[in-house]
Amino acid sequence: MDSVSFPYDAPVSQTLFDRASLVTPGGVNSPVRAFRAVGGTPRFMVSGTGPYLTDADGREYVDLVCSWGPMILGHAHPAVIEAVQAAVARGTSFGTPGEGEVALAEEIVARIEPVEQVRLVSSGTEATMSAIRLARGFTGRAKVVKFAGCYHGHVDALLAAAGSGVATFALPDTPGVTGAQAGDTIVLPYNDLEAVHAAFAAHPGEIACVITEASPGNMGVVPPLPGFNEGLRAACEKNGALYISDEVMTGFRTSWAGWYGIDGVKPDLMTFGKVMGGGFPAAAFGGRRDVMAHLAPAGPVYQAGTLSGNPVATAAGLAQLRLLDDAAYEKVDKVSQEIQGLVTDALTKEGVAHRLQTASNMFSVFFTGEEVRTYEDAKKQEAFRFNAFFHSMLSDGVYLPPSAFESWFVSTAHDERAIERIAAALPAAARAAAGASEVSA
Ligand code: PLP
Repeated sequence: MDSVSFPYDAPVSQTLFDRASLVTPGGVNSPVRAFRAVGGTPRFMVSGTGPYLTDADGREYVDLVCSWGPMILGHAHPAVIEAVQAAVARGTSFGTPGEGEVALAEEIVARIEPVEQVRLVSSGTEATMSAIRLARGFTGRAKVVKFAGCYHGHVDALLAAAGSGVATFALPDTPGVTGAQAGDTIVLPYNDLEAVHAAFAAHPGEIACVITEASPGNMGVVPPLPGFNEGLRAACEKNGALYISDEVMTGFRTSWAGWYGIDGVKPDLMTFGKVMGGGFPAAAFGGRRDVMAHLAPAGPVYQAGTLSGNPVATAAGLAQLRLLDDAAYEKVDKVSQEIQGLVTDALTKEGVAHRLQTASNMFSVFFTGEEVRTYEDAKKQEAFRFNAFFHSMLSDGVYLPPSAFESWFVSTAHDERAIERIAAALPAAARAAAGASEVSA
């Protein structure tokens, strides 16, 4: 570990973590939650209200993770809770079609013009996995192009050089993914259209699809350079491949119509999750009607799910989406800009080299003086400074993502009091970042 100190302990969380570690690998059900990158005891949360989380030791935090994106209205929003309670009272799963699924699909189709039809699933991983299967089934081709630093869930074929936890832990490859499963994956540097053209030239008629995060947030926030997504779209069209835009993170967050609402580049297929589930396991993939027609039972490409379109999850997602109007996005954007300004001021004041990068209201801080355009750039940052910054913020009641390679998320519920708490915590955190040094264990 580096020079990071853990300014206070969390005895109840520690006891829970000890118990968890006996029965669950690493003590957590998703790796980055374990705090391994930043050190210290992961906080076990017991409740959330608006912009706040409360841990098992009774400490309250301003939440800048928002469940990794979904909680765009804050925690326990009354309208979402009411919709969930009403749905639960009617029964929790029927294994039949239901009206909630239709209404949620209609809401997605109404917002995202390239999505003519949509299939609901339970996680972003399932959405991307199904989308590439469909692309392969539709084109009759095997190869998939992805970009280093983009994370599309833990799909075997898409884990190569992935972002999120794979970036956090600098995992080169994942044991358990066989050569055969990864052999049809072509990994290219992000924001590099030349590399895309070269891949199409090297594999004529073999590439089924290019999958990209619409605007990546899983290596920290690294937006597409002007023209990059347009170039991908054009290269796919020219070479008969499908363009898959993964909007699991950006969808319904970066604008009313997600990143598509910002750059207007029309994908063949899109994937969604996070915000559309209102804090429940709901995700989706959709796109061109002629492509979606290849899915079972309409077509031959099989895809299914016992809990797909679950009535409680769809009720939560629909309630959340219906509250996300122009005013809500204006609020999230404003909160985000305010916090971005405070972070920049604090770090600048302490002379800490950093880049604050944004994609609409998503943002993250890289501890480097250089612009970050690729995963290679992102890896050059001084992550040990983030770790010191993180722990100082945590001890002053602000919960950041426990990794230097993740986006920060805000909500409509982040009010003046929450922002003041962040402002009060930042000077000490900036000093901690300035004073941090890399010391090996
Ligand atoms: N795609 C993107 C862009 C993501 O950010 C994520 C998760 O963070 C996924 C896919 C996978 O979603 P899930 O964690 O719901 O499986």
